[in-house]
Parts: sequence; C-alpha cells; structure tokens
Amino acid sequence: MEYIMTNTRQRSRAGRWATLEQEWDVIVVGGGITGAGILREATRAGLRALLVERQDFAWGTSSRSSKLVHGGLRYLAQGHLQLTRESVAERERLLREGPGLITPLGFLFAMYRGEWAKRMLYQAGLAVYDLLGRRWEHQHLSASTFQLLAPHAKTANLRGGLRYVDAQTDDARLVLRVIQEAEHAGATALNYVAATGLLRENGEVVGVTLRDGVGERAATARAKVVINATGVWVDTLRREVDAPPKMRPLRGSHLVFAGWRFPVAQGISFVHPGDGRPVFVVPWEGATIIGTTDLDHSGALEAEPTISLDELHYLMAAVTSQFPALNLSLDDIISTWSGVRPVVGTGAASPSQELRDHVVWDEHGLLTVTGGKLTTFRLIALDALRAIAHRLPTMRPLEAAAPVLDAPGADLDAPLDATARQRLLGRYGSEAAALVAAAHPGELAPIPGTPTLWAELRWAARHEAVVQLADLLLRRVRIGLLLPNGAAEMLPAIRQICQPELGWDDAHWEQDAAAYHELVARHYGVPGG
Ligand SMILES: Cc1cc2nc3c(=O)[nH]c(=O)nc-3n(C[C@H](O)[C@H](O)[C@H](O)COP(=O)(O)OP(=O)(O)OC[C@H]3O[C@@H](n4cnc5c(N)ncnc54)[C@H](O)[C@@H]3O)c2cc1C
Repeated sequence: MEYIMTNTRQRSRAGRWATLEQEWDVIVVGGGITGAGILREATRAGLRALLVERQDFAWGTSSRSSKLVHGGLRYLAQGHLQLTRESVAERERLLREGPGLITPLGFLFAMYRGEWAKRMLYQAGLAVYDLLGRRWEHQHLSASTFQLLAPHAKTANLRGGLRYVDAQTDDARLVLRVIQEAEHAGATALNYVAATGLLRENGEVVGVTLRDGVGERAATARAKVVINATGVWVDTLRREVDAPPKMRPLRGSHLVFAGWRFPVAQGISFVHPGDGRPVFVVPWEGATIIGTTDLDHSGALEAEPTISLDELHYLMAAVTSQFPALNLSLDDIISTWSGVRPVVGTGAASPSQELRDHVVWDEHGLLTVTGGKLTTFRLIALDALRAIAHRLPTMRPLEAAAPVLDAPGADLDAPLDATARQRLLGRYGSEAAALVAAAHPGELAPIPGTPTLWAELRWAARHEAVVQLADLLLRRVRIGLLLPNGAAEMLPAIRQICQPELGWDDAHWEQDAAAYHELVARHYGVPGG
C-alpha cells in the first residue's frame, strides 16, 4: 500500500499527461464530487479510469455548497421520502467512514407564539427523519433550554424549540480525498485539463479532445465510455451530440462571519422574515456561515459566481431579524461565496420548486450525470456505472456495500489534541501520517483564527496539484474564506512555507498573489467593497 501511495504522490503532472493517449475504459469529464465519486467507484470495479477537470479539483459547485451532509428535511416536506431515505442512509455511512471530515451537527429551530401547528408538523417530520436514520435524537426544547443553547437568537414570544442532528463536511476536501483514494487505487486525475470536444465514430462518442491549461498542450484520449460529470456545464458537451439544453442554473450564496463575532455552538434553522424560505446559520471551521439564497443564475457560467447586492441584503435581513442582539453589520462579514446548482429545469415557477434529484442520460454514447447532492455522491456514481455496465465487459460487479472512504489507518503519533488528529485523518486519509512527518518545527500549530495547521499548507503545496494560490487557499485549505481579505495578513508567512515547495520564483509568486487578491476582492467579498 505504502509503495503505491508513494508512487502516486510522486507522479508528476507531466507523467500523468504522458499517459493520456491510450484507450481508457472510462474518461470522466469534471472534477467535482460527481466526477470524483464515479472515478473512485469505476476504479474499484477494475476499470482504467481517467478524470479531467478544466479548472481546479472542486472548483465548481462542489467547493461552494452549504457543506451539509444531510437527509434534506425540505425534500421530506415536499413528500420525496425515497430521496430523504437514501440521503439519510448516506449521511450515516459517511459519518461512520469519514470521522474528522464528516462530523455530526446539531440543528435548532425556535418556535414562537402562534406556531403550534408548525410545531406539530415539524415534530412529525423530525420523527420520520429520525426513523429513516435509525436514530431517535430529535428533542423538544423549552424556551429556557432553547435560550441556553442559542443565547443570541430572538427571544420575543419564544415558546420553545426543536433540536435534531444532521452532519457537515469540508466539501472541497471531500472531493480531494475521494480523488486521492481513486488515484491510490490506480486511477489518473488531472486538474487544469479541459475536455474541449468529443471524438465520434459512426455517430457514437469514443473519446475527447483535451487542452492543458497549464502547459498549453493538446491531446486526444479514447475511451469505451465518456462520462459528462460537468455539473451545471453539462449542456456544453451535450450540445456536441445535438442534445437539447436542460439545465436550469440556480445560484445560492452564503455570508461568513468570524465565530467570535457571531457565536453559535450548533446550527440554527429559521424562516426568512421576508418570504418564509428556510435559512440556516451554522458553525464551520471556527467561523459562522449563513445561507442560502435560491435564484435563477443569469451570469455567464464561465465566470466565478458572485453574490449580488440583493442576496447580500436578503441574508443580512435574516441575520438581523433572528439575532438582533448581536448588532451585526456589513462590516462584520469576513467573506462571501456563491455556488450554482445543477438543477434540471422542469419549468417550475419558483426555483425552490425544482427537484434536486440526479439524472443519468445516455445520448449517442455520452453518459451525462448531473444534479443530486454532495451527500449522495456514492449512489450517483453507482447509478452511473450501472448505466454503462453493458458497454464494459471487463467491469467487475459493483461493490455497493464497500466503504466509500478508505480506512486511514492507525491514529497519528503527533503532539496534537484528539480533535486535531481526527481532523487530519478525516481530511487527508492515509496521507495524514506523512503530512505530520513532513511538518517543520512549529507547523503543527493552527493558523490563528482557524483550525487549519501550517503543516497542511506545506503538504498541499508539495503534493496536492496546486497550480494557483486560489487552489491552495480556497480549496486545499479554506483560510481564504475564513480570514479577512482572503487571509491577506498571513500571506508573508504562507509564502515562506509554500513558495519553495511550489518551486516558484519571486516574480511568479508576486504575480499570482496579485491575481489572488483581485479574485478574492471581486468574487468572495462584499459587493461594492
Ligand atoms: C448554494 C448551494 C448549496 C448546496 N448545499 C449542499 C449541501 O449542503 N449538501 C449537499 O449535499 N449538497 C449541496 N449542494 C449541491 C451540491 O453542491 C452539488 O450537487 C454538487 O456539488 C454538484 O457536483 P458536480 O460534481 O456535479 O458539479 P461541480 O462540482 O460543479 O463539478 C463539475 C466540474 O466540471 C468542470 N468542467 C466543466 N466543463 C468541463 C470541461 N469541458 N472539461 C473539464 N472539466 C469541466 C467544472 O470546472 C467543475 O469543477 C449545494 C449546491 C449549491 C449551489
């Protein structure tokens, strides 16, 4: 095992590129959670699999979600029992297999005077939710207990509340861990390589043309099956097989506050005072997140999605109405992010009415897989592979019961507390021990204001296919979202560790740092500055 891992880490970008022009069993286009999951399960089934991602791994929606691993109470309320049942089962599996990466998260919601009927409805819903998850954890809370658990929430007319348990993750790290484990098992994955077109023979898709965004090279790669896992971008490749567009891109945005300024010990769910939509506040990585919006995204899909002024004010209205005592203002926002949901449009009047289930379409040999949730990525991958099994005679039977995440091995021998050790094992899996061993003195300390260790930066810069600073600070670790101005104040210290690991000269670093600052200011800040 160690032998394979070491080789995987040492395989360079050039080495991977040199292997492209062969006949693959499966080429997966798109390095979000859908593509990552398919790559992992295809490799487990004995297939020679390649994944290409046009930007960075998890650059798309999979680093911009609300980071919940959840059954989706909303789907239950809409009557989608099967979707909720599957999601809850996946949540339980991920909690078991990925401690430190997927962690339980309690949720509270308050009940105010006159909401008796709502309480009955929610209580019944939570009972079904818990039955599906085979745990009986939801509780009714008195007003005083609710206040104790959520001391800053609005108290006027408070009658009590409800508590239930879901889970949360670091979405980008989940993608990276799944890709990393697929590579350990023999797959090949390349970021900054775009599928620019499809190869077709007798009308059927037999491969892709590729362009390297780093080396400006081009190649063609052939495969028995090409899988289009490009999320909200699926219609671009589908157009090449004359398939009609089906995506309805829906944007959702979040605000990030410092944990000390907006302290919450668990999630709090409530309805927006303006339109009654559910909104949540959750603690994440030492910060507090509020989300989300749900509206048609009319911006160019190629550009980074960005929160609009209307969304900003909508979310701030939710915060100030539910947490008036905190006096939060725009100045307290550390960062923002937006993601675009790949939802299949059915023409529903309101975005919230569109179902978030996944779809699998086989069109002239191009298998498109999109929609669904981060939570159910393993089920989506298995569905995709079932759909192409007849075209892959060498594919082994799918191991639906196999753990989706590999066991990371023994506990870490490191001077870290139990939470930090578990966090590293969850995020880096079997590579956590090597990450600790590679740390220089003092680097097992957290970066102030975050649970991220300095050692994670060194490891990522050395081994995790970082091409730009944004890859490092927004996705390998998330300090670009957790600290003001994209962690600008930390950049000199980060440079000391990472510039030599990346092999960049001063001009390269400075140019990239300038591009990073501009990106953060434009797309991850408060609109208007
Ligand atoms: C605001 C918001 C909140 C959400 N919250 C949750 C949540 O809390 N829990 C949950 O379970 N789910 C959540 N979701 C849903 C979940 O995030 C998505 O379903 C999931 O991330 C989609 O993953 P994907 O891999 O299909 O798409 P993506 O992550 O977008 O990946 C597609 C990738 O394909 C790449 N690509 C595109 N074209 C090409 C090409 N030609 N060549 C190579 N690569 C290409 C893109 O760069 C992109 O990285 C949320 C979604 C949104 C928008």
